[in-house]
This record gives sequence, C-alpha cells and structure tokens, in this order.
Amino acid sequence: MASLFSALIWLLLFLAALIAIAYKKPDLQTGTIGTGVALAIYTAFGTGPGWWFLLFWIGFAGMVALNFEDFRRSRVTAPLFNIYKTMVPSLSDTEREALEAGTVGWDGELFTGQPNWNNWLSIPAPELTAAEQAFLNGPLEELCENLDDWDITHERGDLPPEIWAYIKEHQFFAMIIPEEYGGLGFSANAVAKVLAKLASRSVVAATTVAVPNSLGPAELLVHYGTDEQKARYLPGLASGEEVPCFALTGPRAGSDAASIPDTGIVCEQEVDGETVTGIRLNWDKRYITLAPVATVIGLAFKMFDPDGLLGDEVDLGITAALIPADTEGVTTGRRHMPMGTPFMNGPTQGKDVFVPLDAIIGGPERAGQGWRMLMEQLSAGRGISLPSEAQGGAQAAVYATGAYARIRKQFNVSISQFEGVGEVIARMAANTYIINSAVAVTCNLISRGENPAVPSAVLKAHCTELGRTVANDAMDIQGGKGIILGPKNYLANTYMSIPISITVEGANILTRSLIIFGQGAIRCHPFVLKEMEAAQNPEYDAGLKQFDHYLFRHIGNTVCNAARSIVLASSHARLTEVPVDGPTRRYYQHINRYSASFAVAADTAMLVLGGSLKFRESLSARLGDVFSSLYLASTVLKHFENQGRPDDDLALVEWACRSLLYQAQEQLHGFLRNFPNRLVAGVLRMIVFPRGRTYSAPSDKLGSEIVELVTHPTQVRERLTSEVYKTVVDNNALGKLQEALELAMHAAPLEKKIREAVKAGIVEGTDLPSQIDSALEAGLLIQEEADQLHHYDTAVMALIHVDDFDPSEFSRS
Ligand SMILES: Cc1cc2nc3c(=O)[nH]c(=O)nc-3n(C[C@H](O)[C@H](O)[C@H](O)COP(=O)(O)OP(=O)(O)OC[C@H]3O[C@@H](n4cnc5c(N)ncnc54)[C@H](O)[C@@H]3O)c2cc1C
Repeated sequence: MASLFSALIWLLLFLAALIAIAYKKPDLQTGTIGTGVALAIYTAFGTGPGWWFLLFWIGFAGMVALNFEDFRRSRVTAPLFNIYKTMVPSLSDTEREALEAGTVGWDGELFTGQPNWNNWLSIPAPELTAAEQAFLNGPLEELCENLDDWDITHERGDLPPEIWAYIKEHQFFAMIIPEEYGGLGFSANAVAKVLAKLASRSVVAATTVAVPNSLGPAELLVHYGTDEQKARYLPGLASGEEVPCFALTGPRAGSDAASIPDTGIVCEQEVDGETVTGIRLNWDKRYITLAPVATVIGLAFKMFDPDGLLGDEVDLGITAALIPADTEGVTTGRRHMPMGTPFMNGPTQGKDVFVPLDAIIGGPERAGQGWRMLMEQLSAGRGISLPSEAQGGAQAAVYATGAYARIRKQFNVSISQFEGVGEVIARMAANTYIINSAVAVTCNLISRGENPAVPSAVLKAHCTELGRTVANDAMDIQGGKGIILGPKNYLANTYMSIPISITVEGANILTRSLIIFGQGAIRCHPFVLKEMEAAQNPEYDAGLKQFDHYLFRHIGNTVCNAARSIVLASSHARLTEVPVDGPTRRYYQHINRYSASFAVAADTAMLVLGGSLKFRESLSARLGDVFSSLYLASTVLKHFENQGRPDDDLALVEWACRSLLYQAQEQLHGFLRNFPNRLVAGVLRMIVFPRGRTYSAPSDKLGSEIVELVTHPTQVRERLTSEVYKTVVDNNALGKLQEALELAMHAAPLEKKIREAVKAGIVEGTDLPSQIDSALEAGLLIQEEADQLHHYDTAVMALIHVDDFDPSEFSRS
C-alpha cells in the first residue's frame, strides 16, 4: 500500500513538472531538454512499476525524434497533412470573403489563450474633436428637443417635414462622409454618441439617421467609388439632396443573403441614338430602410455576362451598383410597418431596369466584388449603429427606471426598496454598463482605423440582446406605466422596436451560432487560417513545409494552454501576472484563466470535430458565448480605465465582470456536457475544471450597492447614462423624472415625519395631499414645507399618470 502511495506521489510530481514546463511555453528543443531532465530525475529517484518508466521513455524518444526536421516532416507531418487536406472545411467564395474581411486585434489575443494586457491597456482613451462636441451640444440637442415620439409613431406615422428638413440641413445623414466631399467626417465614437442620444429620444429618428451612416451608398462610395462616382453622388448625399438606401434582402434571401435571385445581365442598348453597354436588372427586395423615400438605391444583385461582352466569365458574382430611384422600371414608395416604429421601410422592385456599367460601385472592374465590399464594410459597421441604438435605449430605460422606482411607492415604501425590484434594477444598470463599455471601446478601435470583424459581430448580437433584457426589465418594474400607450409613455416604443435590432444586420441567432465563433475561430486563431492556407497551397512541398511550421507551433500553444488552464483553474486564477493592481486585478486574472481554457476547448473542438463543427451550431454558439464574455469583460475593464478609474463605478464594474465570467464558466460547462466524444470531454473537464465550477455570480450585496447608486441623483447614475437626452423640457419625461427624483430626496424627511404622525394617529388622510393638509393643520409642517410636499406630489403624479382616450380616438379611419 505504502509503495503504491509513494509511486502515485512520484507520478504526480513528475506530471506537475511536465505541466510547469509546458506552462512556460518553451520551443520544441527546450521543451524536450526540460522533459528529458524531469524524466531522468523521476527514473533515478521515483518509484513505480517498471512499465510506467518504459512507456514514458518511449514517449520521450518520440519527442526527441520530432526535433529532427526532415524526419518529422516526412514521417509525422506529411501523413497528418494528407488527412488534414481531406478534413479542412471547403470554403465558398462568399465565406472566404467574409473571413478575410476586417482586422484582428484584441480578439486574436484572447484566442491565443495568453492575452497581452499591455497591448490592450495602452490604447488611448477615445476623444471627440471640437467639431464633434459642438455638433453634440448644438444640432443634436436641438433635434432631440424638437422630437415628439408619440406624434411620430402614432399620429403621423413619419417624422414631421420640418424634422426631415432639419436632419438634412444639419447634415445628420453626412456624418461618415469625408469633409472634402462636404460631409462631417466624424469618428465612429461621435457617430455612436449621436445615434445613442437619438435612440434615447426616438427610435424612428435614430434609425432614419443611422441608415445613411451605415452600410450603404455613401460608405461604399467612400471606400470603393471611382472619382467620378464620388464627385457625382457624395456632395448630394452630404447635403441631404440625395437620400440613400441599400437593398440586399428579398423574399427568398434573408439571412442567406448571398443566395439573392436578383439578376443583372450585361447587354447593349440604344440610349439617345448610341449603343451603350450596360446591365439589365431585375429585382424584388423587401424590408429596405429608407427605400420609400430614397432617391438613390444601392443594389446588390448577381451579375452575368452570357454574351461575353466583358470577357470570358459568364457568372461574375454578387455586384453592387447605384440606381437612381427615378430610373425607368424602378418601383419604390410602398411601406412596411415595422413593429409600430414607423421609420421609412419598404419593398422595391426593378423590372428590366437598364443602367450603364459605370453604375457599378467602383466601376466595371469591381463587377463581382459586391460581397467582399459588403463584408468588409459590415465588419466595422455592425459595431456602431445597432449597438449604439441599443445603448441609447438601455441608458434611457435605466435612467427612467432608477427614478421611477424611487418615486413610485407601494406598501408605503419606494418600490426600489423591495429586494425583488432591486435585483432587477442592479441587473439593468450593470448590463447597461457592459453595453456602454463595449460600444465606447470598440468604436474607439474603429475610429483608430481598425476594422474589428469579430468584435463587431459580438457587439451586434450581445448589445442588442442585453438591450432587450434591459428593456424587458424596465417594463416589468414600471408595470402598467410601461404598458399603457400614449404621449405619457416613455418606454414602450423602445421596447417594441427591440426585435428590429435583433433581426437586422445578421439576425442574432445566426450571428451567435454561426458567425462569432465560426468566423472567429478561423479569423482570430493564431494558426488555423495559416494551416488552412497551407493545405490549399497548390504546391504540395511548399504547403507541407508551411503546415509543418504552423502545426508544431499550434501544438505547442495548445499544450501550453492546457497547462495554463490546469494551473490557473486550480489556483483560482491567482498564479498569473497582470499589469494592474487594485480591486479589478482579479478580473484580469480570471480573464487570463478563461482565455486559456477557451483556447484549449476551441482547439480540441476543431481537432475532434473538424469541418463538422460548422454544423454543430449549439457547440459553436457556446464557444462563441465564452469568447464574447471574455471580450465584453475586457471592454468593461478598459472602459473603467479610460474613465479614470472612478471608485464609485466599482460596483458596476464588479457586477458586470462577475456576471460575464460566470457566464463564460457556465457556457464552458454546457459545451463539455454536450461534447459528443465523451472520453475527450472527460479529459477536457479535468483540464478546464480540475476543481469543479468555482466561480460565482454577483452577490445580492453588490446588487443592493448598485440600486443605491442608480436610484439616487449620483455621479454614477449620470455617468452610466451619459448619452441620454435628459434636458428638462416639457415633453421630456426623462428630464422630468430626474427632477422628481431630486425633489424626492428633499421630500424624504418630511414624508417620514408624516408617515410617523399617521401611525401615531396625529395626522389623518388616505393619500399624501390630504395628509399634508392635515399635518399643516396639526402644526407638524410649516406652510413652506407643505407647499414643497404638494409640489413634489404633483410632479410625481404627473409622471405616474397614464393616458386615456375617447373611444372615437381609437378608430383609425
Ligand atoms: C425593419 C427591418 C429593416 C431592414 N432593413 C434592411 C435594409 O435596409 N436593407 C436590407 O438589405 N435588408 C434589411 N433588412 C433585412 C434584414 O437584414 C433581414 O431581415 C435579416 O437578414 C434576416 O432575414 P429574414 O428576416 O428573412 O429572416 P430569416 O433569414 O428567415 O431568418 C429567420 C431566423 O432563422 C435564423 N437563421 C437563419 N439561418 C440560420 C443559420 N444558419 N443558423 C442559425 N440560425 C439561422 C435567423 O437568425 C432568424 O432567427 C431589414 C429588416 C427589417 C425587419
């Protein structure tokens, strides 16, 4: 028994030595020497059955052999290369173009399993230019003041003509157009701030402004247009004379947008007595934002050249062109009705529409490059418009709910004091902090010239999803006040519009299941894309050499991550160096830990499931969730640093990081539970969770700290909702709620006095106004105090009241 015990101790010591060597990520040669030394010591001093040692030495001999490059390449790598070539998923042109779009930065670091925090923390904090700030303080404020969401959504079903005119005149449609073409040339951060504030006021206005500043004619022209096209269209788009839309989706092609059946046939036609080579277009598109009022349609179609007018190729592929809406054969004007949010959206058809070849964005040489252009621009754009609209909606919901929960009393106390309500308020606030961080940090990357395809997809899916959670929570807390529609309702329009942001620019289920990990695993992984490229190298020997080079680095990286995962999970992430001290330090360490575990899990999934992982969407989505949690938690930490580490925000930072890392743990657990190869799953579980699932979700205590912060007029509340339109004007409920919250703070001691007097039977009355009068009569309050309380009660009740209508007003006719 004693000898078995001693043998096991020695075996564990030997394995610990191997883990320690792997943790340091040595090169193959150094790793072999280290392993040899450890094995020699183990053999010399350790105890155990002889066959153990024999097996270890055989394994070590194999490792030594790998150090001889020619032997390794011909005997080990070549057979693996041949198998890999048959396994590697074949990529369609459109998939390859989507993969090649964008840049890799921090997302790539997280995929390595060993993120370098100095790279992340050294990125300067975002700043606005003086012109951007002046725009926010001037035209944006004024536009917000003049928006009346009830009038827009329920009376008019459109923005009023004067708002359309104001938007065009002040160049809200021209934020991304460079100044040289008459645009504003704003950074992504500025665009996001404009959209967030508008969304906090009116989703219709925000969406109307978002579309010309997102993927569409202006953006495509700026990046790919010919000089003539830029000169022809950009000044008009900048002045608002031209209104653009971009038409990709149709009845037969939604998420699978690359399958559009719309065609453009190269042909010749007589125009003004001359023969012109052009394209005859036929399309049927739907859901196109701004199409009913557009003057120029960005159109995606499949281009064919059956008569060889341009060359040998018949099927040229997806192409993007600009079609003036008044061209013969074009139909626009009819409107869809998207979830009671009446921004301009509708179908468009084209019947035998003839346009010259120079309608192709970028000219005839860009025929067939439409998909690449769309993917390249979407890879940044996805991180700006919809996430910032979700941000505006979430901030408005938190700002309103924090105040409402304080001024709304039931059972004689503010509803914010009920733990059940408090739990929901804390979740809303922390989720909003996550959205704020993700938007500010990622838009800063875009402003600095990055094109972060995978983080943008994370933001699209998760900010809109978090926005939906925040909107649901706000509705639950505000009860009937949120449900009854009318001019006094400041919540329902945002709530109703949320499914739109979930669906557009890559519906969330698809983005989560197919894009974030599916694209990220290949795009951001330090070796996978290089190995795939090696496998596709037409020259076998060159491909083999490349493959050998990356494969052994890949294996080394995976072994190192496995060791890191075991060590960091066992030490609860304590044994890892991070460049930050203080209360956030532990979150950096836990991100390191989960990054290593994620990297091993991702590598294992790709190795075991190969190309079929693409179809295992539930597994792929869970890995995508782990990655998304790590990315979002990194943005939370970076945002906190960018804001100068305000101590008061720590509760939000901690709640946000804790919940994200907890989700990372749970999604890794779900991945392991469902991994089809149970033996591999068992081994992975030992690597990822050697001590089980030890990470906890945020505590109730942390939640109640947050409730205090957002239900009182604090700096934290202001910072958290910094993009919201809060100005106190008559038609802005958010400003009025803040005013009432401040009145509530002053009224609190007097209210308490009255409550106690009612209990003692000194004061009578069934509601606050009658109790105030009774308290004045009883000499408990002086006149000034009574007036103050009446003023407070009137302000509160004005916000608590909802609308009612005469039955005749219900009739739409
Ligand atoms: C209000 C509004 C405005 C829009 N504006 C524009 C515009 O300006 N221009 C434009 O071109 N388009 C626009 N769209 C189209 C929008 O991008 C599409 O609605 C979107 O691509 C989804 O297509 P679909 O609605 O047909 O859903 P479907 O493609 O039918 O998808 C239905 C569901 O299946 C899921 N799904 C599909 N494939 C997969 C998969 N492989 N794995 C997992 N899940 C999957 C989706 O996530 C979704 O949940 C707009 C849509 C709306 C509603």
